[in-house]
Amino acid sequence: MIACVFDGREVRLDRSYPEPVPGEGDVLIRTRLAGICRTDLEIVKGYMGFRGVLGHEFVGTALGGRYEGKRVVGGINCVCGRCDLCRAGLPTHCRDRTTLGIAGRDGALAERFALPEANLVPVPDGVSDERAVFAEPLAAAIQIGRQVQFARGEEVIVLGDGRLGQLVARVLRAWGLRPEVVGKSEAKLELLRRLDIPAVPVEDARPSASARVVVECTGSPDGLAMAMKFVCPRGIIVLKSTVADTAGLDLAPIVVNEVTVVGSRCGPMDEAVAMLARGEVEVEPLVSGIFPLAEAPQALRAADRPEALKVLVRC
Ligand SMILES: [Zn+2]
Ligand SMILES: [Zn+2]
Repeated sequence: MIACVFDGREVRLDRSYPEPVPGEGDVLIRTRLAGICRTDLEIVKGYMGFRGVLGHEFVGTALGGRYEGKRVVGGINCVCGRCDLCRAGLPTHCRDRTTLGIAGRDGALAERFALPEANLVPVPDGVSDERAVFAEPLAAAIQIGRQVQFARGEEVIVLGDGRLGQLVARVLRAWGLRPEVVGKSEAKLELLRRLDIPAVPVEDARPSASARVVVECTGSPDGLAMAMKFVCPRGIIVLKSTVADTAGLDLAPIVVNEVTVVGSRCGPMDEAVAMLARGEVEVEPLVSGIFPLAEAPQALRAADRPEALKVLVRC
């Protein structure tokens, strides 16, 4: 089959990649549409030491199991169900997990791939592929609400106007909060203003250590340092960027201001699908290109351009 593979040095299209072999509890899925995110771009720079088929954001058709023939999205963490963390109700932290297209398991940028049936969430008919493919990053945005208690109508600073920052701002707004986004791209900030979400260029932002909650989605090593300037004493920084690099970073303000830093990763896929089905978040304007699977390596390059938002691959 055709697959987009990272071999440790480069991203390439493999036209004779072996068919996926489903493990116990897995079902085969035919990929319909896949999305590319910052994590994929970090992987091809060596993050996680991953080798194999890329891609973890998808909507596909189940080729077996209880959802056979139906469109599905899926959680990316494939877990053992037996370790202490699984038994403690923290399966996304399973000690023995593989992660679709990120760690130990081939991803969705291929004609077919395998995922545990337990990870799958069916997509309602009214939700198009182009919307459903946002379920995984949307779930990551929803996760913030499981980790932070917000006050009603509270203002929240979102750092970053890229793929994830856009979704986080939309989710916070759908929850009745007042997100304000700080970003670098005038075009991306404008997309937020069209939704009446205040959005300011980073050079105009005047951080005054006054926000109770700051969500850091910059995808940049400087994101945490910037968040420390916005957050108020005893406030909360939600860190979403896996590139967070503390080398040379002065962490003293976290101590002095008694700031809580919350790492935040994958979230509830079923809630994400429900939010998409209810039309609470508008995602279509975030699509900046759709490539065929045969051009998946070009799609990754396109996603790495500064002006890009969500680049999709039709499989
Ligand atoms: Zn992702
Ligand atoms: Zn486990």
